[in-house]
Amino acid sequence: MKIRVGHLYPDYLNIYADRGNIAVLAERARARGHELEVRAIGMRDPVPAGEIDLFYVGGGQDREQALVAHDLVQKADALREAVEGDAAFLAVCGGYQLLGRFYRDVAGEELPGIGILPLHTIAGRTRMIGDVLLDCAWAGQTLAGFENHAGRTVLDPDAEPLGRVVDGFGNDGESGFEGCIYRRAYGTYLHGPLLPRNPWFADRVLADALEHAGGDRELDPLPDELERQAHEVSAGRARARGGRR
Ligand code: GLN
Repeated sequence: MKIRVGHLYPDYLNIYADRGNIAVLAERARARGHELEVRAIGMRDPVPAGEIDLFYVGGGQDREQALVAHDLVQKADALREAVEGDAAFLAVCGGYQLLGRFYRDVAGEELPGIGILPLHTIAGRTRMIGDVLLDCAWAGQTLAGFENHAGRTVLDPDAEPLGRVVDGFGNDGESGFEGCIYRRAYGTYLHGPLLPRNPWFADRVLADALEHAGGDRELDPLPDELERQAHEVSAGRARARGGRR
């Protein structure tokens, strides 16, 4: 199958090797005989809503978020339609914040979001930095990654978090939760990049995109020995932080 990926603002939102997530998806698709077709969707580019199986957006500093936020709002209806149509979406950190209703940055500037995820974010004076370990009970798995954000994300009461924080700050350093899931849209603060050290989650996103492309979401297992070791190293660093801080 061909899996069509829309990479939003690759030139603006890409820190901590976030674009590495695309490389992992491409390799894991190729290993199962599928092909990832990645197209960049930048400033003033239209969103071919029905033609994309997976949208991806990385993280960025407040400055880059301010540069793309108003352009992203122009794409909001098409992106919302795509998510309601069960396209997959992976959004990391700064991109995650802009999928909510708004992000009020460190300078107090309120950047509009596109309201796909039921949340909003307000930057605090201190940054939340370090390795993170999440318990994703919905999948019976853990996620390990790295966070660096000033934003404190507040989920709506009925919103579904991506995971419970075992070690790290997570969305706001208080709620004990990290990220957010809505349909096949996943938002998270976890950089690293995230997917090389969390192969089960890479396959989850890939399976969602494959199903949207009309394919079978069942994926043959891969050896993943190195990936499991990378997960354990990352999880070990998070555990060394000792709890939620
Ligand atoms: N600029 C945002 C913040 O500080 C997001 C940072 C990021 O993407 N790592 O919260």
